This record gives sequence, C-alpha cells and structure tokens, in this order.
Amino acid sequence: MNANELALGIDLGGSKIYAIVTDAANNILASAKTQTDANSTPEQIAKAMLETGRLALAEKNLTLADVAHIGAALPSPVDPVTGDAHFATNFGVRNLSMKSIFRKLTGKEVYLGNDGDLGTLSEYHSGAAKGCHSVVGYFIGTGLGGGLVIDDRLLKGNCGLAGELGHMIIRKGGRRCGCGHKGCIEAYCSKIAYVKAIKKEIRKRDVGTLLPPDKFDMKSTNIKSKYLAKAYAAGDPVVRNVIDKGSVMLGIAAASTCAVVAPECIVLGGGVMVSMGEVILPVFRKSFEAHLFGIPPSKIKIKCSAYGDDAVAMGATILARGKGNV
Ligand SMILES: [Zn+2]
Repeated sequence: MNANELALGIDLGGSKIYAIVTDAANNILASAKTQTDANSTPEQIAKAMLETGRLALAEKNLTLADVAHIGAALPSPVDPVTGDAHFATNFGVRNLSMKSIFRKLTGKEVYLGNDGDLGTLSEYHSGAAKGCHSVVGYFIGTGLGGGLVIDDRLLKGNCGLAGELGHMIIRKGGRRCGCGHKGCIEAYCSKIAYVKAIKKEIRKRDVGTLLPPDKFDMKSTNIKSKYLAKAYAAGDPVVRNVIDKGSVMLGIAAASTCAVVAPECIVLGGGVMVSMGEVILPVFRKSFEAHLFGIPPSKIKIKCSAYGDDAVAMGATILARGKGNV
C-alpha cells in the first residue's frame, strides 16, 4: 500500500470519537470508535482522538507514520484564516490552539474543520450531492450540525461561523437552545431537543412512552436513535408528535436557508437520519415544499446522506487531502 495515498479522518462527537482510514479512491479501509469523556481537557481530547485513529490504523497493521494526510472534525468553529480551532470556550482556557496540540503530539500537520461543514463537504465531494455545485447539509444528532457548499466552495465566513444552521432562529421566544438563545431550530430538531420535549409531554399530559425504561427516564438528556426509531415505528404518540414537529420545523428552516443561498441539493444526515430517515423525510419534504420561495420544489434535490455515520470523518480526510483548501 502506498502510504501517500492513505488518509486518516477523526470525528469528535458529543458521545463518541470515530476514526476512518481511506485510500485515494475514498474507500474506507478501516474504522474505530471510542467513547468521549466529557470532563477531558483539550489535550486529553486530542490524545483520545489520536488514540482512536491509531486503533483504526492498527486494523490494517498501520501506524500514524504510514498516513500522509490527517484531518479532524470538531464540534466548534474553525478560523477561516489560520485553520485553527480555539476549542476552549467550555474549558476556560485562553489562546489555546488545537492545531499546535496535534502538531506536538504527532509531529505532523493535522487539518481541522467544523463537523457540520465536513459532513456537507463529503456529501458534496463524492456522496449524495455529487455533481451539484451548491449544497446545504443538515446533520441531526445530539445537536443539529449544518454546512454550506456554495458554487463549489465550502463557505466559511466571518470567524468560520458560516453554516451554523442549527442556530437559525425560527420562532421568536421559542424553545431554549443550548447556545442560550430561544427558538433555534436545534431546539426542535436534535436528540437533546427530542428528549427534552418528550419529557415535557409526559409531564404535561400524564402519558406514557414506549421508550425502554432502562434507556430513557425523566433524568435522561440524550438517547440512542435506534430506541427513538423503534418507539416511533411502534406508534408511540409522544415520540411521533415530537419527532414530526422537529421535521416540520426543519422543513421551515431549510426553506428559509434556500431563500439565502439557493442550493441545488439539500442533504439530511446524522445518526437520527441513519436510524429513521424514511419517517423523517416525507414530513420534512411536505413542510419544506410548503415554505419554499421562488423555485419549484422539483428543482431542489432532497437526499439522505450517502455516507451515513461516516460522513463527517470522510469530510475530514477530504479536507486533509486538499491541505485545507476546500
Ligand atoms: Zn442555538
């Protein structure tokens, strides 16, 4: 195997770290997954990310020395000029550079990107939106990630904040979002939002749910997508109402985004879409079409992510292969 062809992509998520190794044709040769420790320092997080990368490489008897390109996706904005992430807001650390931490640990350049941006990038590059020049991506997971590729460039914007689509405010005085504002689309369409809304419904209407009691209770803050999918399929009215409302709201948000950037394709991805894409898509589409301005819905492709759980890590390898120029 020619080492120059190999890339390592590492995706830091809310509950797990996922790493893939790809060849020059973007085939996934190996992967590994570990749990995220929420109380880690940035240095510990970087070490855990690299360790997950090493586990993936070990599948093919490779080490970090064998890969030419390393990319990492972070749930944080990345500076469009320096390509660095000051992954510090949650840690009270100032002037911290994730790039220099990675450089110190590997002796190599590690290219950094925002997770929603990189998920959108991979779908644009060789996934569900291949061949389109302008693409909007939404990734429904613990939160709601987003990204914009416009006229064949990943949009970065001021301070790298372009494409933070989860924080588009769609209802004045609406549900409280993790960011501190009210009415962000993430507060309606994300797993954290679903769990909050399900608990509220149960309390308010004194009804039960089909979610397994060992996986969900009134103290839960998150839940695996597969349990939501099972309860939805079994006809749980609370789960159905909450998820359908989230899909309607996402349709409104996506239609509004179309009025700003006029994409050819909208890709929906993330763990929730992997588990329940076929139930979310029709509700989303109906709401999207009802709120779209100025263009027939048939002119905008609506696609489920082709890379599924691999989308963000794949985007990290594409970013690294392009040396950050995407
Ligand atoms: Zn928000």
